[in-house]
Amino acid sequence: MIKLHDKQFVPFLSEAQIFEAVKKVAEDVARDYKDKNPIFVGVLNGAFMFVSDFLKHYPYPCEVTFVKLSSYRGLTSTGIVRNLLDVPENIEGRSVIILEDIIDTGRTLQELVHLFSNTNVKDFKIASLFYKSEVYNGEYAIDYFGLEIPDRFIVGYGLDYRELGRNLREVYQLKENPMINLVL
Ligand code: 5GP
Repeated sequence: MIKLHDKQFVPFLSEAQIFEAVKKVAEDVARDYKDKNPIFVGVLNGAFMFVSDFLKHYPYPCEVTFVKLSSYRGLTSTGIVRNLLDVPENIEGRSVIILEDIIDTGRTLQELVHLFSNTNVKDFKIASLFYKSEVYNGEYAIDYFGLEIPDRFIVGYGLDYRELGRNLREVYQLKENPMINLVL
């Protein structure tokens, strides 16, 4: 168990499980984009580790760039999605694949789809390492994902709790509060 700020987290995914999930996404994308020289767009901050490891498993010609969006403050999504970087230049006519760490409600994704909607990209796809399918509320179908996970707050492997935990090699889940369980 680990403590970050005021919260306790318990182990959820091992390095080996994360490795397999990243590899799966990269192989699925590689199968479809082998000869298409795609541009991968990593969503900062959370996706930095995923993007790095994803690229190590993607053996074909490709480019990589980043945008910065964020919707979480602490444990719950505020709904405020800030766009801190513009759409990359020279993407007209290109295949663009967004690399997200996690898809939760889908608000961030909606903002990304909006961000790219005025561009003349040839092809636009989403690849996310983790996918909370139970709470996903968006219209856009998730094209590629590594693991479906339950609706629990996680940290590690790039994901933070109030900026802590991004450096963890494994993924941890917020520890249930036994009092909440009793009330439920
Ligand atoms: P959405 O906009 O789909 O609700 O949430 C997506 C963004 O919220 C992710 O890119 C990530 O930054 C953050 N997020 C969603 N779920 C979690 C979670 O369980 N843990 C952490 N640390 N961040 C999350």
